Amino acid sequence: MDTQRRTKIVATLGPATDEPSVIADMIKAGLDVARLNFSHGTRESQRRRVEMVREAARDSGRYVGVLADLAGPKIRIESFHEGKVQLAEGAPFTLDTGLDPNAGTATEVGCAYTNLPADVHSGDTLLLSDGQIVLEVENVAGTRISCVVRSGGELSNRKGLNRQGGGISAPALTDKDLGDIRLAAELGIDYLAVSFARDADDMRRAQSELRRWRGDARVVAKIERHEALDNLSSILSVSHAVMVARGDLGVEMGYAELTGLQKTIIRQSLARNRVVITATQMMESMIQNPIPTRAEVSDVANAVLDGTDAVMLSAETATGRYPIKAVQAMAEVIRGAEKYQLGAPRRMGRAEEEFGNTEEAISRAVMYTANHMRVRAIVALTESGMTPLWMSRIRSDIPIYAFTRHEATRQRVTLYRGVYAVPFDLMQLDTGALYSAIFDRLLELGLVDVNDLVILTKGEQSGVSGGTNSLQILRVVRRAAAGAAVS
Ligand code: ATP
Ligand code: MG
Ligand code: MG
Repeated sequence: MDTQRRTKIVATLGPATDEPSVIADMIKAGLDVARLNFSHGTRESQRRRVEMVREAARDSGRYVGVLADLAGPKIRIESFHEGKVQLAEGAPFTLDTGLDPNAGTATEVGCAYTNLPADVHSGDTLLLSDGQIVLEVENVAGTRISCVVRSGGELSNRKGLNRQGGGISAPALTDKDLGDIRLAAELGIDYLAVSFARDADDMRRAQSELRRWRGDARVVAKIERHEALDNLSSILSVSHAVMVARGDLGVEMGYAELTGLQKTIIRQSLARNRVVITATQMMESMIQNPIPTRAEVSDVANAVLDGTDAVMLSAETATGRYPIKAVQAMAEVIRGAEKYQLGAPRRMGRAEEEFGNTEEAISRAVMYTANHMRVRAIVALTESGMTPLWMSRIRSDIPIYAFTRHEATRQRVTLYRGVYAVPFDLMQLDTGALYSAIFDRLLELGLVDVNDLVILTKGEQSGVSGGTNSLQILRVVRRAAAGAAVS
């Protein structure tokens, strides 16, 4: 268990990660959550990748969450005969909604969105691949949109296509997404990301579809359009997590806004007890190179200092040349950044703020104590993982161990900053035996030493029904001596 690192790593799976040994090495390097992008690949390939991750995680003895990312209503080009092409500035390039989906060349490519010729006009600017390729429309005739390349580079299969200033107006869930939600539920994935969410209703709809197929995943709202920013508060109220999806957000809002938006979204998410992922182009040059640029190092480190729960890799791992090195580099940068306490202050909440419930009150009390006492570890006996989630909203250097008997909870907490899962079945233990069992587990995993102080939270049967309602400070002892409360 790598408890030297608090911030978690999400990495996208794809053709470059399809060897079981690559996944195993990515897990060894620090992969916490594997992302499947349902915009790319077949249902069969998604299923295979989930199985591969589950198996590799089992073999490594680590917990790895799985996040399925829905395609959403994004307009994409079709594919190239050779998989990719180079576009040179000034060259002609045509989008053709009548072209065979796999027949793309350096001069033309298909697009499945048949309304495109009606939606664009000569003089329009089209942005491809998160704005990396820029086309100017010269002429529209029938199914063909003739353009000139204004900013060139490599263009590969199924990249996104936006009209500058246009934005997407469609609802977040497409028919394909509805089918994919069912698949995600069948595959038992841990997180479902909703692309281009507009408002709380989009998130509720995804959630109810998921429940319909008995999926237990938590929902992640991808913040990547204007409306989502306007509705951020209500989206947060119904989502478990959000993703700062900088690719489309940058296209929609202009890239100069991104840094301020990222910090705003992270701050609001933490204040509302939500989880937040920072995504897109974090180590983009590692698609080709074995080491990141200084700017990329800085970007990852800054997201860590902003307080994000997780940083994400996209094409760096899905199709890049160095998927393992990308995870290694990210883990290293995170550890480096976490040495510095320069981020947001340890927010203990405003004086006038009221806690929503007992668990939240206990969580805050734990973190206040942990940050003012020499405590080695926090142990939360938990069913759903909510108590460790609340705790981890407060910045601290002390690791939070989620002791739980539920596999789903162990896989879910992989995304929470500073939270680590430990399998533990607390059934039928009296207090003395329970303390001993907890100390044994901590000692055996090398997470504490004898005489260390730990904070334990759990639900007392006699107390408020169900949830966590007690906080204890314990000194670690070896079995036989049994646990002793600190006086
Ligand atoms: P999104 O807007 O959802 O992020 P994207 O096209 O930017 O979509 P990413 O998941 O960010 O996709 O991944 C970046 C690139 O990696 C993709 O554009 C694609 O070229 C490649 N990729 C990702 N997943 C796969 C996959 N399963 N198969 C093939 N290529 C993939
Ligand atoms: Mg997207
Ligand atoms: Mg992307």
